[in-house]
Amino acid sequence: MQLMEERIRKNGIVRAGNVLKVDSFLNHQMDIDLFNEMGKEFYRLFGEEHVTKIVTIEASGIGIACVAAQYFHVPVVFAKKSESKNLDGDVYTSAVASFTHNKVYDIRISKKYLNENDRILLIDDFLAKGNALLGLLDVCQQSGATVVGAGIAIEKGFQEGGQLLRKRGLRVESLAIVDAMDENGEIVFRRQ
Ligand code: 5GP
Repeated sequence: MQLMEERIRKNGIVRAGNVLKVDSFLNHQMDIDLFNEMGKEFYRLFGEEHVTKIVTIEASGIGIACVAAQYFHVPVVFAKKSESKNLDGDVYTSAVASFTHNKVYDIRISKKYLNENDRILLIDDFLAKGNALLGLLDVCQQSGATVVGAGIAIEKGFQEGGQLLRKRGLRVESLAIVDAMDENGEIVFRRQ
């Protein structure tokens, strides 16, 4: 998606440790016009998949998923990262290693909100090593739901997540794939 690549070139900042900071439009301040274009693109890609639910993970996936859901007209369920008094009853859970925070945490979704009739689109902001997406896939599969694919805002193609998940048969559609980047601001996108 050209708009996403242009925006990364304009406002993305490459930090040490292979981290791309996009706080000014995606991860902290959010550009909702851009989110709308992302939602439209996800709908163009997955609109014929009879999606019944969008599943994402807190926090940065939620805004993207909610805007996209306005095109699909389906609910959004987000996986919680911490134990919460608001999560009563049974939960599906999976352990996820965090790329940005360097720790392992459990994600949880209440069993009330996923079932075997669901056709789920996963949405997240970044795909790096693939752990977040593997965790989401795991909780969805525990419920017996069908995962139709994953819509990702930015994939770091030089990390293994994309290949890992596609090899497992998951349809992964990334709006921009960064194949190389360095701290001088050089960013190379994959031609899709
Ligand atoms: P993964 O589990 O694929 O290694 O990483 C995915 C998660 O880590 C995303 O949900 C995102 O929050 C975070 N993440 C990974 N790489 C980056 C990055 O380069 N920049 C930012 N802002 N977040 C990242």
